[in-house]
Amino acid sequence: MIDLRSDTVTRPSPAMREAMLAAALGDDVWGDDPTVNAFQQDLAERAGKEAALLFPSGTQSNLVGLMAHCERGDEYIVGQSAHTYRYEGGGAAVLGSIQPQPIENASDGTLPLEKIDAAVKADDPHFARTRLLALENTIAGKVLPADYLQEATALARQHGLATHLDGARLFNAMVATDSSLEAMCRPFDSVSLCFSKGLGAPIGSALVGSHAFIKKARRWRKVVGGGMRQSGLIAAACQYALDHHVEGLKDDHRRAARLGEGLAAMPGLTVTSQATNMVFTQVEKGHIASLAAWLKEHDILLDLVYATRFVVHRDINDSDIERVIEVIKAYFDRQA
Ligand SMILES: *Cc1c(COP(=O)(O)O)cnc(C)c1O
Repeated sequence: MIDLRSDTVTRPSPAMREAMLAAALGDDVWGDDPTVNAFQQDLAERAGKEAALLFPSGTQSNLVGLMAHCERGDEYIVGQSAHTYRYEGGGAAVLGSIQPQPIENASDGTLPLEKIDAAVKADDPHFARTRLLALENTIAGKVLPADYLQEATALARQHGLATHLDGARLFNAMVATDSSLEAMCRPFDSVSLCFSKGLGAPIGSALVGSHAFIKKARRWRKVVGGGMRQSGLIAAACQYALDHHVEGLKDDHRRAARLGEGLAAMPGLTVTSQATNMVFTQVEKGHIASLAAWLKEHDILLDLVYATRFVVHRDINDSDIERVIEVIKAYFDRQA
């Protein structure tokens, strides 16, 4: 199977599994797991923050990040298409009593500064208290421009807002811009990072920020059921990914670019964007179901019905990319 549904489908490599098996373990709710502690310290240093905290998922890491910044009756400014607004079950509102203030993302994924400015509410009992600006990088594969990140976070600070970054794919943005993790995290008070996407760990996300912030986050993580015991098993996989899988994201980006190029030449299909490890396309309505069936027959998995998104990851190689292009070309040739 060539599975292009998401970069979450990667399987842990034999070497990663070995690292997990070899990990020294303890009970992390007691703070006793040496592998977790070492991973959190290493990650915090690389991110240029005081502390880090391991989570089972990015959804929980984001939720707890929002809950550590905002209290009941506070609100966060966020993009309409942001994961922390649209794809997390409304968790901030449901579990955190935090009101989202969504604003429309521009086509490059940014939130226009004048819209952020206009969304900040006055200190008045009619309004929720605007507390936080939450951005996402990469968003739909797109890297937010560094200048924009400076300006948006400076604007937030002017208004006394904290800043959170959903960096589920921040390592993709980092290698795409030849930057460092420290530079990518610098504008933000807190950042959530995923290891279970392109980096290939089976489980694991982490939040980075100040000591005081992470202390609050540790409490909320326990409250939402994310306190884990011998989680060094997970931290070992994340550490392995951090040490060995970051550079490989460049290969994913090169392959996604090649896939985008190959697909752009097809009739009946339009490439709407290609950035980092993703290709977004539009398929003519009449073709969606039959193309999906054709791909499945040829052992290619794609979430065509929901969104014609192709996601490249470390379990996809160069010949897989060529095969996908060939199979789709054969589909449209047959129609002609
Ligand atoms: C995948 C993802 C998350 C977290 O997802 P989990 O499946 O809960 O780990 C958060 N934000 C973005 C942008 C993502 O793509």
